[in-house]
Amino acid sequence: MAELQKAEIVGTPALDGQYIGEMDIWPFEAPEFNRIYPFYDNLRAGKFTTTKCKKCGHITFPPQVICPKCWSDELEWVELPQRAKVVTLTETQAGAPLGFEPPLILAWLTFGDKGPLKHLLGRIIHCKEGELKEGDEVKFVTFSVPAHPFEVKKDTKISDRVFYAFELVK
Ligand SMILES: [Zn+2]
Repeated sequence: MAELQKAEIVGTPALDGQYIGEMDIWPFEAPEFNRIYPFYDNLRAGKFTTTKCKKCGHITFPPQVICPKCWSDELEWVELPQRAKVVTLTETQAGAPLGFEPPLILAWLTFGDKGPLKHLLGRIIHCKEGELKEGDEVKFVTFSVPAHPFEVKKDTKISDRVFYAFELVK
């Protein structure tokens, strides 16, 4: 089994003996359960991606299995920029949701006018309380999430997991 990571970065450590599995907040990243699993494989390869509609060109984030604009299911994976600027932010300094340590920082980010997407809501990690400011540049980072067991045809598989966030460019 993959080495389990402590809660300070990833949130609810379902397998750390502290919470039951049903309280796990991270997605199943296995192809058996998740049609956007290539997103997680791309994260593992250090790529920040999403889906683009082959019919109308619409790009969504998070990735989708059906285009919300024209209902086509012919989507392709495209890479997103790995740097963005903070438009505005919220910082939970106390009473963060279960499993998350404060400060829990969420920022409304922009890729600028030339980006494939104009905006994105992202979580900022490795940042002290009060440190992040509007206009700051942030970069995409990935981190491992506690592995999760699941059943496939009476076999138990362990899903190694990864997720993404952003951190301040200093
Ligand atoms: Zn479309």
